[in-house]
Amino acid sequence: MNASQKVALVTGATRGIGHETVRQLAEAGVTTLLAGRDPARAKAAADKLKAEGLPVEPITLDVTDAGTIQAAAAEVKARFGKLDILVNNAGIIADDLAKAPSEQSLDAWRETFETNLFAVVAVTQAFLPLLKAAPAARIVNVSSILGSLTLHLDPTSSIYGFKIPAYDASKSALNAWTVHLAHELRDTPIKVNAVHPGYVQTDMNGGQGEIDVPTGAKSSVGMALVDADGPTGSFTYLGKTLPW
Ligand code: NAP
Repeated sequence: MNASQKVALVTGATRGIGHETVRQLAEAGVTTLLAGRDPARAKAAADKLKAEGLPVEPITLDVTDAGTIQAAAAEVKARFGKLDILVNNAGIIADDLAKAPSEQSLDAWRETFETNLFAVVAVTQAFLPLLKAAPAARIVNVSSILGSLTLHLDPTSSIYGFKIPAYDASKSALNAWTVHLAHELRDTPIKVNAVHPGYVQTDMNGGQGEIDVPTGAKSSVGMALVDADGPTGSFTYLGKTLPW
């Protein structure tokens, strides 16, 4: 690999939108690390894409486990010395959809925030030195339209009647983190953006989404490959700005 070859890492990439994001980045010529918490499943998923001739490698990363985060960052440092693209894609819903917002358990709130917010902060902190070592890194935080407080308050919005508070608040907080990190890095070539993938047919919604997985990966891939004129601190879906 020559030094100008871009290297990406996508968390939660064993299935769903993350897996397809790996495919599309690799198809764009980026050496892409398919990160998964189960080493065997990460390897199997990466091997399939490799067999198609794509530049994909597996890496073990449980985003809620400090040990695997440090080990993954050390591995990327040793192998590549930099990271051009970090896609914080891993995410969960722990809310009980049959319960009202006030009835969700604190365990569900904690579990959700561990994966959807604190893990993103931890992974980003661990990889930031490697992102700074790349010429113009991109950080993509996979958020959700359900993190939009403006749309939650709008009776005409499609999400008005759908309130899963731990998940929704974790994505609002992820958006806030995106704005804060983008501000910290505003005088560097690094861009930090949040995206909504769309309502995508994945395991997360039992395949009930409205758009297919290849379309669902496009917002992440677009921001991962955005050029120097692109935004930072934004929240978009397929390039269109969403309200906070
Ligand atoms: P998914 O099919 O349920 O896949 C979630 C992925 O996250 C899996 O690969 C899972 O790994 C991984 N993951 C969960 N906890 C992890 C952990 N602790 N460490 C490492 N990986 C972990 O979900 P998806 O629909 O592709 O969602 C991807 C992202 O898009 C999420 O952030 C989600 O909130 C966001 N999103 C999705 C939709 C939608 O309509 N699907 C809409 C808006 C936003 P395992 O295979 O090991 O479980």
